[in-house]
Amino acid sequence: MRGRVDFIVRSRWTCQIPETDLCSYIFGSASCALPTNPIYLAAHKPETHNLSMHSYRRMVKKLARGLQDAGLQPKQRVQVYSGNNVFYPSLYLGIIAAGGIFTGANPTFTVRELAFQLKDSGASILITSSDSLKTGIEAADMVGMERSKIFVFDDSLILGDIENGTGIDKWLPTDAAERRHYGVRHWSELVSEREDFEWKVFRTLEESNQTATINYSSGTTGVPKGVELSHRNFIANCAQVVHTISLSPELKALENRQLGMLPMYHAYGQTFYVMLTPVINIKLFMIPKFNFIDFLGYIEKYKITSVGGVPPIILAFAKSPAVSKYDLSSLRGMSSGAAPLSKEVMREVTARFQKEHGMEMRIRQGWGMTETTCSVMGHHPEDTADDGGSVGELNANCEAKIVDAEDTTIELPANKPGELWVRAPNICKGYYNNPKATAETLTPDGWLKTGDIAYYSPTGKFYIVDRKKELIKVKGNQVAPAELESVLLDNPKIADAAVIGVPHEGDEQPRAYVVPQVGMKLTAEDVFKWVQERCTRYKWLTGGVIFMTEIPKNPSGKILRKALREIVTAELKKQ
Ligand code: AMP
Repeated sequence: MRGRVDFIVRSRWTCQIPETDLCSYIFGSASCALPTNPIYLAAHKPETHNLSMHSYRRMVKKLARGLQDAGLQPKQRVQVYSGNNVFYPSLYLGIIAAGGIFTGANPTFTVRELAFQLKDSGASILITSSDSLKTGIEAADMVGMERSKIFVFDDSLILGDIENGTGIDKWLPTDAAERRHYGVRHWSELVSEREDFEWKVFRTLEESNQTATINYSSGTTGVPKGVELSHRNFIANCAQVVHTISLSPELKALENRQLGMLPMYHAYGQTFYVMLTPVINIKLFMIPKFNFIDFLGYIEKYKITSVGGVPPIILAFAKSPAVSKYDLSSLRGMSSGAAPLSKEVMREVTARFQKEHGMEMRIRQGWGMTETTCSVMGHHPEDTADDGGSVGELNANCEAKIVDAEDTTIELPANKPGELWVRAPNICKGYYNNPKATAETLTPDGWLKTGDIAYYSPTGKFYIVDRKKELIKVKGNQVAPAELESVLLDNPKIADAAVIGVPHEGDEQPRAYVVPQVGMKLTAEDVFKWVQERCTRYKWLTGGVIFMTEIPKNPSGKILRKALREIVTAELKKQ
């Protein structure tokens, strides 16, 4: 069976991928007529804070010019550290239109986490939300970034004038005294008054391969790394999703009105909000901070037609008593990605909507990784709501194969689980400034080793059954064990440590196995607190801290995570 090519699964479809740049893909050109109906609306103030396709392009052009005027050079990185707001898509694309590279950070990151990313990406500008200003400044100070390179981002712009194009729009910059005190600037200074910016139009594949975004992922091993994604990667992924939607008018109707709560530092938010929203003309109500009750209120208020989310949100639709209190009759579909969604939860949600609202709810799962831009697999129009927990089939132009998890030269046939490898035009260029990690993850003939254990059915549907890689997923967020282990080893009272994920209510929780230094007094609370003070909430050791005399390792010193996982499995069996 060695090297047999007939075990490669190829998509049923192909679609055209324009060889161009992101702005031309989204807008057509810098001057063509564009619709003026609102597509981005702030969920809490939609009347004053909304942007049409026309005003979106206008903001992108003004920002691109403003960033260049502020000294941004081609390929320089701009780091955005903010929750969603109605201007985030414009900022994202403005950076890219200016020739820069966008890199986003989770707005809940601690100083340590943000400083790591600032340093690793070598960002020359930091744009931070007003809520996170102090953390942003501390992190920038830590990496030696000048205060004049820090801009405060908010949604204090009033868009009254934006459609008729008269002069600069009205700003209500808040906290001016605070900014003066810290020597930082307001992002309105990056919005040029000039409207005549023209982005560089790409016409070849080579140009289209230029990096647009660096998103962070730990991949199959180690600490978070910058994943370089090109214009082509995003355009390919969007073209694939547009193609899937085009297969079904029903699906198109589903995508009509959505809530924008997916994080925009992740490609899930970037692809859907920056690109697909204008391309398929979605009305998107942006939510700055996710809260399930507000979320239900917005679904009722704005007659939202579908929600895209992560398994904990779908689980909340199954369990939360609040779901019964809202009129959710507009909602026709849900999609879930970023982590496994159990078929039991899918069934509970569909049964609940049927019983309480007399409606058929379609839940579609998709699969992807930061390294694949966003999605590689998804449920297609003819799929029924519950097919037994598959993540769907390959998007147009994608290929996949399953290889033996131990000997990856052996390709496996249908129904045999092994490591999933994928090849597609949306696979990243590699890890930024890290050729070693790139070579370990991407094969010379273009396969991405995903680290997920999966199998496919004879009809080409994929099922994710396990993870070979170290990664832990908490509420859809990545937790890299190597990062937590290094944080733990910084504690002088800890001699050794290993972190794994333990299953918890359809999600995972990070758990640490810790060897204390001989003669040192250390409690589980001390260890929990140590991590709590250094990491954002979803990385906290909610799965527990267990003391050991020795971490199981192989002869070359690699942690035997499998042995630790077996302890957990045995524990769960006892419960
Ligand atoms: P990220 O790079 O943060 O998007 O994480 C990618 C990883 O999340 C994948 O390699 C999987 O381990 C996991 N993942 C994403 N989607 C799914 C899914 N539908 N089912 C199971 N695991 C998933």
